[in-house]
Amino acid sequence: MLDIILKVTFVIGLVASETIRFPHRMRVKRERKEKRLADERWTVSDFVLDLLAFAGMEIIPLVYVLTPWLGFADYRLPVEVQALMGVAGALAFAAGLWLLWRSHADLGRNWSPTLQIMEQHALVTRGVYGRIRHPIYAAVWLVCLGQALLLQNWIAGLAGLVLFLPVYVLRVPKEERMMLDHFGDEYREYMGRTGRITPRLGR
Ligand code: SAH
Repeated sequence: MLDIILKVTFVIGLVASETIRFPHRMRVKRERKEKRLADERWTVSDFVLDLLAFAGMEIIPLVYVLTPWLGFADYRLPVEVQALMGVAGALAFAAGLWLLWRSHADLGRNWSPTLQIMEQHALVTRGVYGRIRHPIYAAVWLVCLGQALLLQNWIAGLAGLVLFLPVYVLRVPKEERMMLDHFGDEYREYMGRTGRITPRLGR
């Protein structure tokens, strides 16, 4: 029974995260023709890494939830521990969803699924961006942590954390380089007062 509750909670979280993202994806699609790009730094390797992260966060866990194929990698803990992990996982997932929603609201039309700068691009330094520079990536980490705690299986649980790591490690420096090239001192000063995915301490 607990097994099913954990899996259903994960699926609800996944559907909620897609629901938050959907209107933004649609808007980018709609506006693709009229938007003038000032810069785009997107390569095949970025695409492959994105695909791997998608597999880790959506395909592999859904295969786990919907089929018995990954059951061999389940681990069994005392039921109280399982339940506690489930509650912590649901809380992490919910925090990630809140942050994802807030970040999209604050970043608005400056969001893009790939690394790009539009001609009308504005540097956002308010809202959640006033504290951290990469709240969307922070939200993804929280969701992956939720996945790891909810899906108590070595493969489906850890796939998100493991497969998002290369995206995060490679994209953040590339994105910050691009932002520095376009916004110069304004972004440098912004970097000085914010953390990447956790607020800067001692301000
Ligand atoms: N790294 C951010 C945004 C991810 S979306 C986050 O985790 O929340 C990626 C796009 O957002 C990039 O192509 C970049 O053009 C844009 N971007 C990133 N930080 C920004 C900021 N502070 N203001 C405006 N656009 C930003």
